[in-house]
Amino acid sequence: MTKVLYPGSFDPITKGHMNIVSQACELFDEVIVAIMNNPTKKVPFFTLDERVKLIKKLYENKPNVKVIVGSGATVDVSENEGCQAIVRGLRGLSDYDYEVQLRQINKDFSKDKMNTIFFFADKDYQFISSTAVKEAFFLGKPICNYVDSLIENEMNNKR
Ligand code: ADP
Repeated sequence: MTKVLYPGSFDPITKGHMNIVSQACELFDEVIVAIMNNPTKKVPFFTLDERVKLIKKLYENKPNVKVIVGSGATVDVSENEGCQAIVRGLRGLSDYDYEVQLRQINKDFSKDKMNTIFFFADKDYQFISSTAVKEAFFLGKPICNYVDSLIENEMNNKR
């Protein structure tokens, strides 16, 4: 059984993230979305618990998508979950430097065992980021093209 870990902040999960989950689901038996508890990141929009609930709801009819909170090093979470690889998404060159660095760090931490598989965002999702979604939201602009309606409603409820 092939299992991969898709780690990230997902604050909030966007249609871009969901595009990567769909692509990974086509190739692997199980995709574990790991919402990483990253203490270096500023105050989040959604708490970890809120993100878990929302993402679980989004994928409630997809038994091959599991949602967890990951704390500590990504590579440890991936190993503990029995994943063969980490999945990350690339929108374009701007993601490249950071992602290549993370990939190497994860290889180093795992003594070369844990590799990272990259999926490119399909064309409609290349310009979506959680940060841009939050900016548009706070400006009162529509975000329905960028996030699922479940997420949009929940963002409005928090306003
Ligand atoms: P992190 O804080 O770890 O970068 P994010 O939630 O911002 O967490 O992103 C998680 C992963 O999803 C990263 O690999 C990022 O490049 C990728 N990603 C983010 N937005 C998109 C998108 N629109 N299309 C494809 N991949 C994306």
